[in-house]
Amino acid sequence: MDDAANRPDRPAAEQRAAAERIRAARAEAAELAANLERQWDAVVAAAAFTNNDDEHDPEGSTLAYERERLTAMRDHVRRELAGLDRAAERLRDGAYWTCERCGGPIAAARLDARPAARTCIGCAAGARR
Ligand SMILES: [Zn+2]
Repeated sequence: MDDAANRPDRPAAEQRAAAERIRAARAEAAELAANLERQWDAVVAAAAFTNNDDEHDPEGSTLAYERERLTAMRDHVRRELAGLDRAAERLRDGAYWTCERCGGPIAAARLDARPAARTCIGCAAGARR
């Protein structure tokens, strides 16, 4: 057991609950990623059967759109997975409950809703680009 990694001010139960939330969110994102990979393969397979003439073939432009949509979703899921991995790391380091930007606490309700959150709600609102 590595107790040094656990902050004394956070009960172990809370720590475990957070780890479980991150794990669940990660499993969900990983499943979505796998699902997107299958859709991607289907689009690639469909593209192989149609003409490469995207400009004039309505089927081709649908595939191009579909490919673009899947790429965007895949990027989003990858960022999500990376964020959750980082959250798990932050949890191990005892930094999970602390805002990365201002060093203040991150509300438990915010972490409930967004397990990968790294900033408090105030900083998140300020940082929105
Ligand atoms: Zn903050």
